[in-house]
Amino acid sequence: MDRQQEFVLRTIEERDVRFVRLWFTDVVGSLKSVALAPAEVEGAFEEGLGFDGSSIEGLARVFESDMLVQPDPGTFQILPWRGEHEQTSRMFCDVLTPDGEPSAADPRNVLKRALGKASDMGFTCYTHPEIEFYLLKSQDLGPDGVPVPVDQAGYFDHVPGGIAQDFRRTAVTMLESVGISVEFSHHEDGPGQNEIDLRYADALQTADNIMTFRTVVKEVALMEGIYATFMPKPFSEHPGSGMHTHFSLFEGDSNAFFEAGAEYQLSKTARQFMAGILKHAPEFTAVTNQFVNSYKRLWGGGEAPSYISWGHNNRSALVRVPLYKPTKGQSARIEYRGIDSAANPYLAYAVLLGAGLKGIEEGYDLPPGAEEDVWSLSSAERRALGHDPLPSSLHDAVRAMEESELVAEILGEQVFEIFLRNKRAEWHDYRIQVTPYELKRNIGIL
Ligand code: GLN
Ligand code: MG
Ligand code: MG
Ligand code: MG
Repeated sequence: MDRQQEFVLRTIEERDVRFVRLWFTDVVGSLKSVALAPAEVEGAFEEGLGFDGSSIEGLARVFESDMLVQPDPGTFQILPWRGEHEQTSRMFCDVLTPDGEPSAADPRNVLKRALGKASDMGFTCYTHPEIEFYLLKSQDLGPDGVPVPVDQAGYFDHVPGGIAQDFRRTAVTMLESVGISVEFSHHEDGPGQNEIDLRYADALQTADNIMTFRTVVKEVALMEGIYATFMPKPFSEHPGSGMHTHFSLFEGDSNAFFEAGAEYQLSKTARQFMAGILKHAPEFTAVTNQFVNSYKRLWGGGEAPSYISWGHNNRSALVRVPLYKPTKGQSARIEYRGIDSAANPYLAYAVLLGAGLKGIEEGYDLPPGAEEDVWSLSSAERRALGHDPLPSSLHDAVRAMEESELVAEILGEQVFEIFLRNKRAEWHDYRIQVTPYELKRNIGIL
């Protein structure tokens, strides 16, 4: 038993914790949870806890369904929304095969592998997500068949006595109490749309934090009698919900993306990393934007990127280099604006990091940046400037991913195949739907 494990057992005892939830994630990023009695925790540390992997999307095939989850003691937290007495806690878990090997199908393990590769190259990867979501009056649709937002406010609006403000205050307090530091929170552009930005942390911790964040936000919304959705584009006429993520690589204590005096103070490493992301973006978009609905965001305006370009402080770019502050050399970073709030954070960060590292490994050249608003160019101008489109549907994205050796290598063959199978099925279901839009447009045709 190591010291972290001992600390967890002692805390359970001292704080009179009644339930210990073990959390892990399936291939699409749904949180899975099993509650343990405190007496079982020691055994789970030592040998893992058995479960039927074949019942979890993407984890195991039926004929090899026995799997184990082993809690990571470093992630132990009391869950404050369950009250003061008979407390509930949670730990994230690694999924293991029956012989105790890390499972190739565990998304957390996929990200750990990508981070292991970064570490072999001498880098630690830090990430900082800006998470957007909508607050709705309830999960039910309104009389006109669309969701009902909690308010009609817009970007940075302060609504006196507003429900969103109360919500943000409670949610931020709750996040801080489970060890997640929040940098900013504000009302976003859409009615009922909010954004909460988490302080940077290493990529595995960020991915764990995002899973916790989604649960906290949903729980707090329920407590306030409203409903929170991370759906990428719930309204045709309002902006979608992105999860812009800032990336930087550190070598020891120094930011490998920073070079004093270089253009935008960006090092060659940062430029190659960005080049890797831009070059491979079409291949990994099925992972960062995994639902049919994700493509309604990418192509539906509202400041979501549709074309592959990078820019300095240019909000139409897919990759943005934020304004440089001379006092903050260590904060040199790049922002990926494509990813949405419904991505599986483990897989999405693995492919983004993997594509960036590929750019460094192969010494990719960064194409010229976009100074202009890429949306306002004609398609001929965009072609001349090399701003190719992102995939325009889940179908296109799946096709591009199928051809990608890089994404197969990063995800591993098993996750790669299972993910594609899941997404092909989703596309097939969608393709045969007759939508209200078509009925409205076509019922009276001819
Ligand atoms: N909601 C926009 C998106 O989907 C982002 C808007 C913003 O934060 N500037 O990416
Ligand atoms: Mg923001
Ligand atoms: Mg925003
Ligand atoms: Mg942003």
